[in-house]
Amino acid sequence: MKDLKLAGKYIITSEIVALTGLHIGTSSNTLEIGGVDNSVVKDALGRPYIPGSSLKGKMRALLEYAEGLITMVYVVHNERNESSNTRIHMCKKEDCAVCNIFGRNHGKHKVVDGNDPRGYRPVDFTDAVTPTRLIVRDATLIKESITEQMKENMDFEWTEVKFENNLDRVTSAANPRQTERVPAGARFKSEMVLTVFQGEGTKYIEKLLEAMLLLEDDYLGGQGTRGYGRIAFEKVSIAFRSVGYYEGREEEQVIVENCPSLREALGKIKRG
Ligand SMILES: [Zn+2]
Repeated sequence: MKDLKLAGKYIITSEIVALTGLHIGTSSNTLEIGGVDNSVVKDALGRPYIPGSSLKGKMRALLEYAEGLITMVYVVHNERNESSNTRIHMCKKEDCAVCNIFGRNHGKHKVVDGNDPRGYRPVDFTDAVTPTRLIVRDATLIKESITEQMKENMDFEWTEVKFENNLDRVTSAANPRQTERVPAGARFKSEMVLTVFQGEGTKYIEKLLEAMLLLEDDYLGGQGTRGYGRIAFEKVSIAFRSVGYYEGREEEQVIVENCPSLREALGKIKRG
């Protein structure tokens, strides 16, 4: 591993707008009293939010595809429990944007390898681990974005309930299932922090914005192919805080302020 000396941090703030209903489900299947059977994640005050892990995981996956990293060689996680195997890209390349931005896991992992009679070979990633550059904060609901008018058509204070049908192909019987979702028009306050080491320039911030752009043309949460989860990043601001900022010697450098779209923000960074 080469020496890593901090250059500074990019602070990327924006508003995430739900352009269609958004369903980010809870892992538990517990039924709340008066709740629905397929509820969305909420904070301690009962307000829906977008977990940073959902944003980060989706952006990582999209960037893995975009960088052509979903190949026959990938890493298998949770190998102790075969049924919950998750295949993700992870490599030891020093300049891999995906691994450097989103992180590598410590320890030994099974790397799928068709040339190995076992179908995989164990690889120890310990010596390749560098600090994960990206932190994605949970995005909190901007309460005012859910207007009184919207609330008139909603089932709960912050969410609506939609029925999805699965049609039995023989009997035509509908098998309705409730899905709770945040209504279209809801806005969330988002913040991401990207650490940059000396000599890295703008390549990782450009890749991060590319991943965010890919997400705009994909979806967040569940039922995406049924139209849910289309989002946009608006009012994008990007500031750079150098080491001098943290030492109290320098101000943060505003690179982009309140940019209406990501594409425009990316253009500004590329032009320098
Ligand atoms: Zn990699």
